[in-house]
Amino acid sequence: MILFRVDQATVEVVGGDKFPVRRIFCAGKNYVDHVKEMGGDPKETPPVFFTKPADAVHHGGDIPFPLGTENLHYEGELVVALKSGGTHISVDDASSHIFGYATGCDLTRRDLQFEAKDKGGPWDTAKALDDGAVIGKITPVEECGLLEKGELKLLVNGEVRQQTDLSKMIWSIPEIISRLSSLFELKAGDLIYTGTPEGVGAISTGDTCRVEVAGLAPAEFRLVPRFE
Ligand code: MN
Repeated sequence: MILFRVDQATVEVVGGDKFPVRRIFCAGKNYVDHVKEMGGDPKETPPVFFTKPADAVHHGGDIPFPLGTENLHYEGELVVALKSGGTHISVDDASSHIFGYATGCDLTRRDLQFEAKDKGGPWDTAKALDDGAVIGKITPVEECGLLEKGELKLLVNGEVRQQTDLSKMIWSIPEIISRLSSLFELKAGDLIYTGTPEGVGAISTGDTCRVEVAGLAPAEFRLVPRFE
């Protein structure tokens, strides 16, 4: 007997369908200039992987300022949605598992991340926060093609804070899928945040944040007070 119902997290697909979310994987350290701004050496830091809970997806609109942080950062990213998966997926075969793409924001409690880095502890409290996986509508591959290049931009209150090209990823999307599938069995419903470029920074209550990737639906949210 199932004791009670737990909602299935979903993301809207352009056109009206809903994509059920199984897991959320995230790549860190995947743009050279962002590795540098975080004090790392791009040559010595292959991408790191971490996860967020499926119910951290947020479709934009108003987001209550997250609990437990005084330094909330935006990270504008391209998100890949999988329609199938497997283990030990080859780089050549990786793209055949992609359902589509979305714009996303990997919200990060940077103060807790710095604390974790200092202590050599896990990143969960920094990354797996409620509403921490902002995502726009998914555009299916049939409509936008396979994305290898194109502008990615993040704006705060209309001002550009991050701007790059997807071609600047250190590890390409097929390489990320291949690498991840040697660590986890990937399945339909998985989302992969592919890392953020340079220019990350703090946002506060009242700020509006918008992520754009050429050809995709934007993701836009506003931070509102937790208690009105
Ligand atoms: Mn990120």
